[in-house]
Amino acid sequence: MAVTMLVLLSTASLAQPIPPTPRPLPPPADLTSVKGLGNADGTPLRLQQKWDGELTFEIAPMGQYVEGIAGQDGRSVSVQINARPLIRDALAEWTAAGLPLRAVSPGETPSLRIGYGTLALPSALGWTNVRGPVHEVTLSLRNIARKAVRLYGDMTRQGVIDSRQVSLNDFAAMLTSLTALHEIGHGLGLLHPDAPSGDELGARIVTLLGAIQHPLQPSIMIGDSQVFFTLAHQALGRPVGPGDIRLNQRDRIGARIMWNRNAAHLLILRQMQCALPSPSCIASQ
Ligand SMILES: [Zn+2]
Repeated sequence: MAVTMLVLLSTASLAQPIPPTPRPLPPPADLTSVKGLGNADGTPLRLQQKWDGELTFEIAPMGQYVEGIAGQDGRSVSVQINARPLIRDALAEWTAAGLPLRAVSPGETPSLRIGYGTLALPSALGWTNVRGPVHEVTLSLRNIARKAVRLYGDMTRQGVIDSRQVSLNDFAAMLTSLTALHEIGHGLGLLHPDAPSGDELGARIVTLLGAIQHPLQPSIMIGDSQVFFTLAHQALGRPVGPGDIRLNQRDRIGARIMWNRNAAHLLILRQMQCALPSPSCIASQ
C-alpha cells in the first residue's frame, strides 16, 4: 500500500511540474560588503575597549506617533507609529547577533542613546553620531511617516509589498524597524556597504567583509531604504513582510568584529582596505 501511494504521488508530481521560481538578480557588488569605522592605524575601532566591556542602551520615552499626511491624491491619510517596541525588537535582534547589549542602569552613562528628533534632509530617516563617548541615534518619525506614504503606492504596485497583508501603518512600522536596525548598526560602528560616499563622518573606513555576489538577504546597512526593499523582494521571490526586516549573517559578523576582534576575525581583516589615504595606510599597501 505504501509503495502504491508513493507511485501515485510521484506520478501526480510529474503530471504537474512546479514552475521554476524566477532567479533573483544579485545586487551590485558594492552593496554587499560590510564596512566599519577604523582607527588611524587602519584597524577597526574596538568598541569593547571604548566602553570598557559594557554595551548599554537607553531609549527615550515616546508614545504613539500620529500624523495626518497628504497622500499622492492630495487626501490626508493618518499614519501611526508605535516606535518604542520596534526599537526594543531591533535591539533584541542585535543582541541575538552576539552583542552584549543591555538596558542602562540608573545613573549610568549608556553606550548608545536612542531618541527622536527632526532631521532637515527629508530623505534622512535616522542619524547617528559616533564622535563622542555616547553614540547618539536619532530617528525622525516625521520623515519615516512621510516616506511611508510616499513609497507605499509604488511598493504595492511593484509587488514589493502586498497591500492585502501590509497596511500603510504596517509599512510605516517596517520602515521604522529598518531605520532602527540600520542606525543602531551605525552606533555599533558599521557603515554603508558602498562607503565612502563623502558623508561618512570623515573617518577611516575599513572593509570588514569583502563583497560577495549572491547574498540571500540584503545588508541592513544599505543606505537607501527603497533599495533595501527592492533587493529583499528579489532575494525572497515574494512580497516583503514585517518578519523580513532583519539583519543578514554578514551584518552580524561585522558587528561582532567591531565589538571585539578575535583571532578568526583577524584573518578577515587582512583583506582590509584603506579607503582614505594616510601614511600608515599607504605603507601597508
Ligand atoms: Zn546610514
